Amino acid sequence: MGPDEPTSAQLWSTGTPTEIVMLDPDGRVVGRLRFRACRTCRAGRILDIWVCEAWRHQGLGRELVHSLLAHRPGYLWTTTSQTPDGRAFFLTMARETAVVFPHGGALCRHLMGPFRRSWRYLLAHWSPRRPRAH
Ligand SMILES: [Zn+2]
Repeated sequence: MGPDEPTSAQLWSTGTPTEIVMLDPDGRVVGRLRFRACRTCRAGRILDIWVCEAWRHQGLGRELVHSLLAHRPGYLWTTTSQTPDGRAFFLTMARETAVVFPHGGALCRHLMGPFRRSWRYLLAHWSPRRPRAH
């Protein structure tokens, strides 16, 4: 692993929010996807996806979703309410991944409990590029 590659830590806990985080070479968080997932029901909800302004339009959001699907294959996903931009994004992702991301719907009983802790998962394979100069 080179000096510019992010470190990784991975912890699973049913029902608690999990983060997939992208760091730039200086260790700043530039992208984040938060979700909750239930292994019993193989269902999950994407809570939010955030990409730092300077890093938008470079595929970070797509990378976050692909990483999520790679780590939780075969799950049924829903999202929280979607903005028009979010709706377009998830439609694109659905075409690209053949996984649909409807918003809303009921959570399974395992995911209904209070948020207790937040685990953080740092992408190990993502190699950051510098944002384009404006
Ligand atoms: Zn469940």
